[in-house]
Amino acid sequence: MTDTAQELDLPQVATQTTPGEGHAYLHERGASLEPSHPLARGPVASPPHSVDAFVKEFLRELNYGQGVPLSRSSLNDQYLALARTVRGYLTARWLETARKRRSHTERAVGYLSAEYLLGRQLDNALLATDLTQIAEDALHACGIELDALRQVEVEPGLGNGGLGRLAACFIDSMATMGAPCIGYGLRYEYGIFKQTFVDGRQIEIPDNWLSMGDPWEIAHPEMEVPVHFGGHTERYVDEAGRDRVKWIHGWDVLGIRYNYMVPGYQNGVVNTLRLWRARATRAFDLDIFNAGDYAQAVRSQTFAENISKVLYPEDSTPQGKELRLQQQYFFVACSLYDFIKHTQPTDFDVRDLPERIIFQLNDTHPVIAIPELMRLLVDDYGLEWEDAWGITRQCFAYTCHTLLPEALEVWPVSLMERLLPRHMEIIYRINEGFLDEVREAYPGDELRVRRMSIIGDHPERSVRMAHLATVASVKVNGVAELHSQLLRDKVLNDFAELWPDKFTNVTNGVTPRRFVRQANPYLSKLITDTIGVGWVANLDRLEELEVYAEDEDFREKFRAVKAANKERITRVLQRRDGIALPEGHLLDVMVKRLHEYKRQSLKLLHIVTLYDGIISGRLDPASVTPRTVVFGAKAAPGYRMAKETIYLINSAATVINADPRVEGRLFMAFPANYNVTLAERLIPAADLSEQISLAGKEASGTGNMKFALNGALTIGTDDGANVEIRRLVGDDNFFLFGMDEPQVAELQARGYRPADYYETNENLRSAINLIASGHFTGGDRDAAGLFVGDLLSNDAFLALADYQSYMDAQARVEAYYADQEAWTKSAILNVARSGYFSSDRSMRDYIDRIWHVKTGV
Ligand SMILES: *Cc1c(COP(=O)(O)O)cnc(C)c1O
Repeated sequence: MTDTAQELDLPQVATQTTPGEGHAYLHERGASLEPSHPLARGPVASPPHSVDAFVKEFLRELNYGQGVPLSRSSLNDQYLALARTVRGYLTARWLETARKRRSHTERAVGYLSAEYLLGRQLDNALLATDLTQIAEDALHACGIELDALRQVEVEPGLGNGGLGRLAACFIDSMATMGAPCIGYGLRYEYGIFKQTFVDGRQIEIPDNWLSMGDPWEIAHPEMEVPVHFGGHTERYVDEAGRDRVKWIHGWDVLGIRYNYMVPGYQNGVVNTLRLWRARATRAFDLDIFNAGDYAQAVRSQTFAENISKVLYPEDSTPQGKELRLQQQYFFVACSLYDFIKHTQPTDFDVRDLPERIIFQLNDTHPVIAIPELMRLLVDDYGLEWEDAWGITRQCFAYTCHTLLPEALEVWPVSLMERLLPRHMEIIYRINEGFLDEVREAYPGDELRVRRMSIIGDHPERSVRMAHLATVASVKVNGVAELHSQLLRDKVLNDFAELWPDKFTNVTNGVTPRRFVRQANPYLSKLITDTIGVGWVANLDRLEELEVYAEDEDFREKFRAVKAANKERITRVLQRRDGIALPEGHLLDVMVKRLHEYKRQSLKLLHIVTLYDGIISGRLDPASVTPRTVVFGAKAAPGYRMAKETIYLINSAATVINADPRVEGRLFMAFPANYNVTLAERLIPAADLSEQISLAGKEASGTGNMKFALNGALTIGTDDGANVEIRRLVGDDNFFLFGMDEPQVAELQARGYRPADYYETNENLRSAINLIASGHFTGGDRDAAGLFVGDLLSNDAFLALADYQSYMDAQARVEAYYADQEAWTKSAILNVARSGYFSSDRSMRDYIDRIWHVKTGV
């Protein structure tokens, strides 16, 4: 038997070096937390950035953290040790940032979001600490390849898509700007499901992302926050003779705090993301336990812990499930309690809350925080209703993320009364006061009063969360100019008339650290070699690249970058999915959640039209630009049409890729499980970015921004942030097609008949007929029936109306791509003119227009 201790790579009692060294070690690691220690209050030094020091730290984590010697360690051991080593380098800065923040009384941002789609953490942490090279060399000295460890990391998929990814970009930018911000959310045990395909159909596999251990989280099981549900309310008169309300809880759970560090880009700032996990209370167990039913007691425990078990996989179409409301209340109750009790001094006066915090509501998911704050102020702190309402109305701002009516969250009053009876009373009272205000402003206009009410009547009495959010918030913002305009003019028009100044726009952004610097190292090097490194934290500087669009030498290098990225994605897809991408094609990419409004159906019609044209002899294959279309998309598990679309895309891919008549001309790839990691590999390789939603439906999009920043040209409608992208990059460098929003509204008002387009457009008819014939589905006509039937009789998102315009735009793409010099110029201009889409700029806008917090702390 081997004695493992003998095998360790470090001296066995590592801290028993000379006293001086041991002291320095503690100091370096920021471990000097003892308040009596002279160093505890002073600035904490960073560890030395040297390969030797890194090797030592790494081996210490491996030997004493994982408990294995290098020679016997698994890749996962090595990854965990590396992650903890890097985390160690962040800790001192994190503690220092927190210390500074405690000593200031300035206002902070509490970002409340039910989703954070973080992506992998290791590279981001290495970049933030500028340790990439050192880590690579240190690992190399240990005989380990950094790249091999990178691939072990499981990405935390605690979000569905754009909304969750936005939250992750925003907290990155806040840290990089040195702005005080705590992100609050849920630590789901299972994140967004893993997608696989079986016979072309989506199968969902639970995302057990914690199974290998998460080295980035720091749990604080001792700091539990009680959260209550159910029961009823009672009225009573307090000692001062005032009428008060007591909530007699039905059941409780505890919120357990998990901290994640959010490092700024090489600026020494490390902010906090705080996610909550549900744990059963002991009191709750004991009641049932005393009744003698041990097994039931344990089961009840599981019941309470279900709250943070799984992320709901619906994107833009909430299901109104009770557990989801539990999740929402659970995480905001923990977060408000945490902010007031744990981040503020013990003598803190809740009346000062608006000076200390602004809670940003990322969509309606956290809106129950509004009545929760009222409950805390009135019931727990004993404030008068009007005073509490005055405070609450200064503490929240609301971001609306949608234009789809079905995406606006409502909760049945009956459910609210059962789960959160006190909150329901508070909502009624808020509504009373609000409707008085409306009646005063519009005497006699009861129709308007009913439209604006926080309580809706159809199809059942329910709470309209967007109305509640709008009433209580300082500001309401949309996420792109067009979206904000439509919010004011349509979705929340009555509110915008009553409070015109409440409404504003903040166009979304993406973090250039992850989506350019990390995702596209080749382009990053070319940019840095050309204009210096400053662009990473100041993306406006990309405009300095503009002149290089005319530089032939630069264009050649730019093309070489694209080619290298295509080689890289070819390797990734080969290894990951066994897909062999053909060489030398235009790479046409559509990656985003599968949703009818995003119109993956229209993209499929385009490919099928090309294919149909070639095999029917109407189109000369030599005239078709060799093109590979890559899809990536998850469908909500209960969304039938979305799943049918996935099946049809996969079926078409199988048939088209196997058909020798289109070989070398058309290829389709649909790698399963589109996620942040795949996005980071795929987007830098793309030539063409597909942003083809029906105008007026996509609030902003952020995928569109990632593509433009990586030098893809966009083919897109006048929708969401596409409008701003086109304005900035210029019409000559963007392929616009389709109806604009007013034209869509007009067509719908006139009465849209998709069959009209089918009957009059020969190519369209032929393509749809080919799908309907079962050509792609092994002769099975029924398999395509739902898709084709809906397109011809319903087509709620007007794909057929935009079809010809889309085909024409694709023809322009082909013609333009034939001139590689012109195409490259446009691609460079897309990069040079997209600095606006940095989430740093978004944060600056939120700070100036909504939050008014100080930066540079
Ligand atoms: C950026 C991103 C999205 C959002 O894409 P849209 O095209 O804006 O819908 C969704 N999922 C992932 C993994 C992303 O990185």
